[in-house]
Amino acid sequence: MSIKDYYSILGVGKQATEDQMKSAYRKLAKQYHPDLNPGNKQAEEKFKEINEAYEVLSDKKKRAQYEQVKEAQSRGYDFSNARQGTGQRQSYGGSGGVDINDILSGMFSGMGGGAKKGKQDFGQFENIFDMFFDNNTSTAREEDASPTVGDDVTVRIEIPFALAMSGGETIIKVPRDAVCDRCSGTGTEPGAKVATCTTCGGRGKIQYAQGGFIINKTCPRCGGRGKASSLECARCSGSGTARETQKIRVKVPQGVFDGAKIKIKAQGDMRPGQQGRGSLYVIFKVEDGGYTRENDDIYYPLKLTKKQAEKGMEVKVPTITGGIIMKVPAKTENGKLLRVKGRGAVNMKSGIRGDFYVKVKVK
Ligand SMILES: [Zn+2]
Ligand SMILES: [Zn+2]
Repeated sequence: MSIKDYYSILGVGKQATEDQMKSAYRKLAKQYHPDLNPGNKQAEEKFKEINEAYEVLSDKKKRAQYEQVKEAQSRGYDFSNARQGTGQRQSYGGSGGVDINDILSGMFSGMGGGAKKGKQDFGQFENIFDMFFDNNTSTAREEDASPTVGDDVTVRIEIPFALAMSGGETIIKVPRDAVCDRCSGTGTEPGAKVATCTTCGGRGKIQYAQGGFIINKTCPRCGGRGKASSLECARCSGSGTARETQKIRVKVPQGVFDGAKIKIKAQGDMRPGQQGRGSLYVIFKVEDGGYTRENDDIYYPLKLTKKQAEKGMEVKVPTITGGIIMKVPAKTENGKLLRVKGRGAVNMKSGIRGDFYVKVKVK
């Protein structure tokens, strides 16, 4: 959990005088003022951030409190613990026994906004955290897993019945994240200068607290690299990640059933900084082709007239392994099943074929 760096937001040094800060603030406020940047969400956020930074740093008391919180953190106070309690006081256990709640409380009461002085409650933390900590949207838990490979991608494809029965290959199009090829993932327009990302202060992450959790997310501006340029890559808008559609040859297992899922390693997403691609999952939708499948048995409907069923006849039937001539006995009734052993679908695991059934339908 890190605290916003108000100095770098204003672009001033830690020893900046009141006049220096005022001048820096005026310059930035002018640059990012919403009136001058209509509809620009980024400029609006920036403008808010600048105002917040100036509000704290220009006020002697708030600035001192801000320094105290920063100092407490640098001495090891874990603010995420403060977030987990609902109202209990938590003391900083280091030298001097600083009570972080006193700092936060004092700080908050100096800010206005509904705090009751001297009373620690959950709501206060919320406001304090909103005030001093960076903003964002996924949980710290996700971040802790710190994936070195990209996310998995799932693609559904529809294949003909015959292909499912025989097995084979097909080519699918996989939309996925890739390292931008224009900027090689740097997010910077080729040739442009690169500097520390002002959104995350170079940490590559932005954080804030919400609903009792520390929320932690890769910085959207620099994509986690901590560096960004004023001139963003024209293809990926500075994220370093671009979408691509990759054609991938997929093996269709013999006997694959409707809804079957296969995993193909290292064909999923990959973003800058990751060591490899996530997995690709392919889910098969098998067209019925006029057949019905039950486990590995295949059912084929055979329509006969009353006369044909009464007399019996020879008929050509398309089984899974090719056409056969089948004898329909005399006096065959509606719904009768005629079995052809070992001519059904191949079981994906055992490799054993099911049976083929002709289901007689008498009109
Ligand atoms: Zn790019
Ligand atoms: Zn950043």
